[in-house]
Amino acid sequence: MTGRLIVLTGPSGVGKGTLLKALLANHPELYLSVSATTIAPRAGEVDGVHYYFYDRDRFEVAIAAGALLEWAEFAGNYYGTPIEPVQAQLALDRSIVLEIELAGARQVAKIFPDALRIFILPPDLATLEARIRERGTETSEAIDRRLEQAKVEIAAGNEFDYQIVNDDLQIALAELEKLVTNAE
Ligand code: ADP
Ligand code: 5GP
Repeated sequence: MTGRLIVLTGPSGVGKGTLLKALLANHPELYLSVSATTIAPRAGEVDGVHYYFYDRDRFEVAIAAGALLEWAEFAGNYYGTPIEPVQAQLALDRSIVLEIELAGARQVAKIFPDALRIFILPPDLATLEARIRERGTETSEAIDRRLEQAKVEIAAGNEFDYQIVNDDLQIALAELEKLVTNAE
């Protein structure tokens, strides 16, 4: 197996986290990058597991120190990928998955042109909105910002190597699994 950088992008609420959880359960050999962010932990989110929760000063120090492979501002907060685990996994010839938004995915494509870049699409915008609202983790203002951003992201979906529509979860999971295992 050769290590590959795998980038998963798609609008907030499309089901990236749900798909990745199932993918990693079937493929314990895959390593999921834990991002740094300035958002406050949501219910059930644990520092170092779901995200590394930084304040803005600490995040800016990490940027200045070159500790992030990529970073972006999304809906008013910073998000970024710590570079060290990425380098460590690839040095061991192990694949690593980054779940990141569009601007970050574009940065990674420049640094790692061989990365496998997959975009997850919702069946339609109404379904996306219903999923974000049903998840119940965001305020209504944060939901509106995410939906605005979703339109921008979806319009750029064709920049990616592959697109998967997450309508039926099991079908989308099977497609994702096929792409990822073929890449390994
Ligand atoms: P993301 O990580 O892309 O923001 P989540 O994985 O948190 O999205 O999914 C958003 C919500 O949609 C969750 O409540 C999840 O259970 C639900 N969901 C995900 N995939 C599907 C699907 N295929 N069909 C119906 N609901 C889904
Ligand atoms: P959420 O707040 O819903 O967890 O994440 C918001 C957005 O930030 C999602 O599109 C998610 O993919 C993206 N994101 C999470 N981590 C990173 C990261 O390290 N870098 C970038 N560029 N985006 C990220």
